Amino acid sequence: MSDCPCCSVKNYSECCEAIIKNESAPTALSLMRSRYTAYNVLKNLAFAA
Ligand SMILES: [Zn+2]
Repeated sequence: MSDCPCCSVKNYSECCEAIIKNESAPTALSLMRSRYTAYNVLKNLAFAA
């Protein structure tokens, strides 16, 4: 996984992945980003299936 789907410049593994897995975020903004990322990741997986 490369760039995070939330449009940050971080890698996915360094950005939203940990937030999604831990289901906690340090800030409201990062929580919003992780929700957006989770939505897009799940959507992409559904399309790919
Ligand atoms: Zn992210």
